[in-house]
Amino acid sequence: MKILKYCPSCGKESLHWDGEKKWNCPNCNFTLYNNVAGAVAVVIRNNDEIYLTRRNRDPKKGKLDLAGGFVDPKESVEETCKRELFEELQLDVDISNLKYLTSLPNVYHYKEIDYNTIDLFYEYTVSKKFEVNLELTEISEAFWIPLKELNIDDIAFDSQKRFFEEYLNNI
Ligand SMILES: [Zn+2]
Repeated sequence: MKILKYCPSCGKESLHWDGEKKWNCPNCNFTLYNNVAGAVAVVIRNNDEIYLTRRNRDPKKGKLDLAGGFVDPKESVEETCKRELFEELQLDVDISNLKYLTSLPNVYHYKEIDYNTIDLFYEYTVSKKFEVNLELTEISEAFWIPLKELNIDDIAFDSQKRFFEEYLNNI
């Protein structure tokens, strides 16, 4: 976080990171908050299988990820689920079938900045398995995997690892 050194208000090399969530300039009292960001992760499920994606870019390139992403400004979390699943998988989500499960904190490290997130986990059950034509942007592949074959070490993010440790106990 110390990559930001120069105050964007007064221009002095006096910007101070508080170690938690804000930068402050003691010279001119400028303050910039790096508040917790909301993010969603959706477990798409059909019987005892789930649909996972493989990341094709950093952070955590090559690791497995649930569909989802950051909440946009002025958006409900359910709208985020619908938007992200359409963007990533061209899936048309029925919001009334989204089931909220739990939340877990995570840190998303991107280009020398740590973004603290609160990851909101949802389950979305589909009555039959689908395959999608992926636009090769954020994900390189997506596939169905039986829950009992899922290896937690292959999961990209700590919050999702913690989530699956609990989730797999209940199958
Ligand atoms: Zn300043």
